[in-house]
Amino acid sequence: MVKAPNKIETWQMVAPGKMERATIDVPELKPGEVLVEIAGCGICHSDIRYFYGCMPMVTPRTLGHEISGTIVAGDTDLIGKEVIVPAVMPDNTCPICKAGRENRCLSAKIPGYTMGIYGGNSSHIAVPSADLCYIKEKNGIPLSHLAVVADAVASTYQAVKRADVQPGDLVIVVGATGGAGIYATQICAAMGAKEVIGIARNQAKLKRALKFGATHVISSLNKTAKDVRNEFNAYCMSKGISPFYGWKILEWTGVAEGQEIALELLPFIGKLVIAGYGMHKNELSLSRLMALDADVAGTWACLPKYYPEVLDMVLSRTIQIEPFIKIIPMSRIKEAYEETRRGSLMHRIVLTPDF
Ligand SMILES: [Zn+2]
Repeated sequence: MVKAPNKIETWQMVAPGKMERATIDVPELKPGEVLVEIAGCGICHSDIRYFYGCMPMVTPRTLGHEISGTIVAGDTDLIGKEVIVPAVMPDNTCPICKAGRENRCLSAKIPGYTMGIYGGNSSHIAVPSADLCYIKEKNGIPLSHLAVVADAVASTYQAVKRADVQPGDLVIVVGATGGAGIYATQICAAMGAKEVIGIARNQAKLKRALKFGATHVISSLNKTAKDVRNEFNAYCMSKGISPFYGWKILEWTGVAEGQEIALELLPFIGKLVIAGYGMHKNELSLSRLMALDADVAGTWACLPKYYPEVLDMVLSRTIQIEPFIKIIPMSRIKEAYEETRRGSLMHRIVLTPDF
């Protein structure tokens, strides 16, 4: 039985590094909006950046933008339906949306960021129903787990689309073991890439990547970009593939070292998609792109229209999510944020409301 509550239980960020329990009113639903009872909310690295003050944030507010749940109020036809809430819900009316780039809509609703005090670390959230991704059959995957589809998996899919990965392609994933990289290797493999080379620092996680789409891995621990280049060349030679043209590179680390590796490996007629975020500035020769006739693109969030395709890949277990998820009750959110900040986790945490 679904029931609409009078109040929303939530964990509010009240200052950098400080979170408090709060009970807030359910906002009045506007036309086209529904109230979702949250089943799971994943912790994303951007939540960590905002919470610990690496990026400015107006408080109080509830963080969390990786949400799955059940509709409990609003349009009566929709009540009881299980959904994934896209991390970025566009207005679908502005020139950017009209250009087919809704994922970067400047008026988009993003839980935890552009929706006032409301975010996913809550019992419920009011959202527009227009772009929700409806789940018909969960195929044995708990609804809470599907929260990671909202951002980690979907944004990775968008990045792979941006790179235009095609059957037979040669792909490098820098940051292959991170929260998105683990899905990037799988999605590239699912798209038919012939080679998916994972680059990262953590040996145990690199070994794991070989079971999830990576055809080869290179550890970048204590190595220069040139060292990685030499190892990459040696691998290509051993496989009879040229290291010097055609590779598509997805960069997920968002740190200078990772980006340096990506640029070092960028080949003739190659394509580099920047999918990780950092605040540093890079020193690079832009003219190299001219000489290489190469493309560099950014990618952000995911078009709502891709969500059903992404969900199908997850439900058919073409992309595995369960080995990468750790469920922690919402009441232990402070500990969960700390654990994520330390960065040693093999799993992404999904919080399940218990308050
Ligand atoms: Zn728009």
